[in-house]
Amino acid sequence: MKPKVYITRRVPDEIIVKIEKEFDIRIWDETDVPVPREVLEKEIVDVDGLFCLITETVDRELLEKAPQLKVVSNMAVGYNNIDIKAAKEKGITVTNTPGVLTETTADLTFALLMATARRLIESSDYLREGSWKTWSPMQLTGQDIYGATIGIIGMGRIGAALAKRAKGFDMNVLYHNRSRKLSLEKDLNMKFVELDSLLKESDFVCIMTPYTPETIDLISARELSLMKKTSILINTARGGIVNEEDLYHALKRGEIWAAGLDVFEQEPISLDHPLLTLPNVVTVPHIGSASIKTRMKMAELAAENLLLALKNQTPKHVVV
Ligand code: NAP
Repeated sequence: MKPKVYITRRVPDEIIVKIEKEFDIRIWDETDVPVPREVLEKEIVDVDGLFCLITETVDRELLEKAPQLKVVSNMAVGYNNIDIKAAKEKGITVTNTPGVLTETTADLTFALLMATARRLIESSDYLREGSWKTWSPMQLTGQDIYGATIGIIGMGRIGAALAKRAKGFDMNVLYHNRSRKLSLEKDLNMKFVELDSLLKESDFVCIMTPYTPETIDLISARELSLMKKTSILINTARGGIVNEEDLYHALKRGEIWAAGLDVFEQEPISLDHPLLTLPNVVTVPHIGSASIKTRMKMAELAAENLLLALKNQTPKHVVV
């Protein structure tokens, strides 16, 4: 009898075919709706492997319903949706998909930085709604990017890829990280600073850490109050690292100039969220890694991790 695998969303057919060759699979077949919790709880009961996305909360309670489960393969680099401690205790392997999405996520982060600094969405809306009557000197003016100071919090794979892009714009790069990255500092000519200095000195503050107990509310009222009035906050890491209520007040009071957000405390963000009422907030729906090639690579890697774990071989990327 083939091992059983549950896939929580329809991934491209070639990936399904690959998994299906080796395992008995069941799939939550709706593209735009996550699998309801009660369905997942029923489906997980007899499976050996779970292929899931960040939209699924794989907590202790769920893992306890799955006596046969050997592997949880997450199609993402971040794994804050999974209770790693519980998985480890139960001897369940957890895998993720780092690396293949680094450049694409850095591209989106820089695109969001540029869109926010130069008010692209607001300008496009201005034109389309018929407000453009003439060219005028200070109309829709934004902040300069070229030569500005960028502060990157979290100098891992994506942080470093973002720093490289910033160097292309002759930016002064500051970073803060849990550990120093001496060789990267030299290669990219960037400076390690304490968090408060980074916040005080940067024109752009970009968050690139994982979401962990240490990074919850890392950027709250105090941190925002240290930033320049002309500065811009970009978060493409995870919602919850920035306190959204504090961010709203800082933007509303003009303590910082603007924010570009790909990730939110609750996803999807509610349409009546106060942040969505502000013109100086650019929001996109968690599309950091959303290029066709990268999403294919992530799905392939997640499938490979799953296959290897269920064949008792070492997966390419093991979290625990
Ligand atoms: P990574 O290579 O593991 O880098 C994370 C970096 O954050 C590491 O350098 C780590 O420091 C640092 N860090 C961790 N905790 C910290 C803390 N408390 N204070 C300061 N620095 C801390 O991960 P990555 O591949 O670059 O991805 C980073 C995150 O981006 C992911 O966890 C994910 O949540 C997010 N992401 C979002 C999207 C999207 O679609 N928006 C796409 C991909 C990834 P050490 O070097 O000391 O470990």
